[in-house]
Amino acid sequence: MEKMMSLSTPRTIACDSEHKQRANITAPKAARAARPGASISARSSVFNARHAKLSGAVRAKDHVATRQQRGQAFVVRAEQDYYEILGVSRSADSKELKRAYRQLARKFHPDVNKDPGAEEKFKTISGAYEVLSDEQKRGIYDRYGEAGLKGGMGGAGGPGMEYTNPFDLFETFFSGGMGGGGMGGGQRARNRPQQGDDERYDLSLSFKEAVFGCEQELESVRLEGCNTCTGSGVKSGTQPRECPSCGGAGQVITMARTPLGSFQQVVTCSTCNGTGQISTPCSACGGDGRVRRSKRISLRVPPGVDTGSRLRVRGEGNAGKRGGNPGDLYVFISVRADPELRRDGITINSSVTIPYTEAILGTTVKVNTVDGPVDLKIPAGVQPGTSLLMAKRGVPRLGNPSMRGDQTVSVTVSIPQQLSKEERKLIEELASLNKAKPAGQRGWGRS
Ligand SMILES: [Zn+2]
Ligand SMILES: [Zn+2]
Repeated sequence: MEKMMSLSTPRTIACDSEHKQRANITAPKAARAARPGASISARSSVFNARHAKLSGAVRAKDHVATRQQRGQAFVVRAEQDYYEILGVSRSADSKELKRAYRQLARKFHPDVNKDPGAEEKFKTISGAYEVLSDEQKRGIYDRYGEAGLKGGMGGAGGPGMEYTNPFDLFETFFSGGMGGGGMGGGQRARNRPQQGDDERYDLSLSFKEAVFGCEQELESVRLEGCNTCTGSGVKSGTQPRECPSCGGAGQVITMARTPLGSFQQVVTCSTCNGTGQISTPCSACGGDGRVRRSKRISLRVPPGVDTGSRLRVRGEGNAGKRGGNPGDLYVFISVRADPELRRDGITINSSVTIPYTEAILGTTVKVNTVDGPVDLKIPAGVQPGTSLLMAKRGVPRLGNPSMRGDQTVSVTVSIPQQLSKEERKLIEELASLNKAKPAGQRGWGRS
C-alpha cells in the first residue's frame, strides 16, 4: 500500500538549478516508478474492488512519482531470504522447489495447523514459492532482491505477493492441472509489452458436481490478439513515427506556478499517451491490437469446491498488449442448494423422520447421500434430535480428495396427534405399566 499512497501524494520537484538537473536525470526512473499504477489497474480486474479503487485514484492523476517517493517505497521492510524460507539451496531446481513448497504448505496450512503464526508462515512460504517458481521473477530476485520485485511488479507494499491469494496457490497446486504460480506483472511501460487483464467467469455447479468435481465447458469472452494487424494496433502498410510533442520520450516537463513558488513537473505526453509514437490505428481493433472474441474452454473442477472457491486457468484471460503475456481466467464457483442435503465445509447434514414406535423399537431407514440411498441403522430408544453419523459420506477435502468428510443425520420423531380406540387402549396400558415400575426405571427407554 505504501507505494500506491505515495504515488497519489504531490508529485512536484522543487525548482532550483540543482534540483532541475536532478529532475532531468530521474525522468526515466520516474517513468519506471509510474508503472506500478498501470500494473495495479491491470491486475485489479473486476474482482478486487479495493485495488481497483486505489488504482483509479492513481490513474486519475496520471503522472509520475518523484525520486523522493520512489526512495520512500523501498524502505518498507527487511529483506527475507526466499531460499531460506523454503529451506532449499540457491541452485535448487523446480522439482526441489515444488517438493519443498508442497511439504511446508501442507504443514502450515491453517486448516491443519492451528498454531498462532501458522497462517502467516503459510503465506510467507507461498509468497516465496510464487517468486522462485517463476523463472523471470526468480532472476529478478537473485539480482536485486525483494526490492527489485516490488519495483517491477507494482510494489503494492507487501513482500511482492499482494495480488495472489496463497490459498489459491495451494488449491491449484494440490488439485493439479490448473497450472500454478505466475501472477505475471513484470516489466511494464506504455510502449513495451503489457500483460493482459485477468478475466472473471462465474460458474454455477450442482451440489453433487461440487462434491465430486466435474468437467465443465465454459464459453469465455475475452480480448484476443487482432489478426488484421498481428497485435501491433498499427494499420498495415503504415509505420509509426516519433511523437513531435515529446520527441519520443513519452513525457514532457512543464512548469507550474503556485503561491509557494515555481515547480517543475514531469507529466505523460498527452499527444502520444506516453508511447512516444504516433501511428495510424488498425481499423479492425481501433489501434488496441486486440479484439473481443469468445472461446470454449474445458475446465476440470476438482472435488470439494464450494461457493466462494476460485479456480485459476492460467493464460486464458485477456491478451496482453504489444506481445505481453495474457492474463489469467478466474472461475468463481457458486453451488446450488440441494433439497435435502446441506453442506457445512466437508460435512453434509440431513435429517430423517421416523414414527415414535420405531424410535422406541429401533429400525433401519434409507437415507439419501451424495452416493445414493444408504441404509442407516437407528438404535432402539433413540431420542428426538439425536444426530447419527454416517462416516465418509461427506465431501472430499479440496486438494486431498482421499480424505472425505462425514454425513450427520438428525433424527426427528413423529408423534401421532390422533389415535384409534385400540391404539389409545394400548398406550394407556403402557402408561400404567410405566407407573408400576420403580421410580428409577420410569420413562420409555430412558433409565
Ligand atoms: Zn508524445
Ligand atoms: Zn488490429
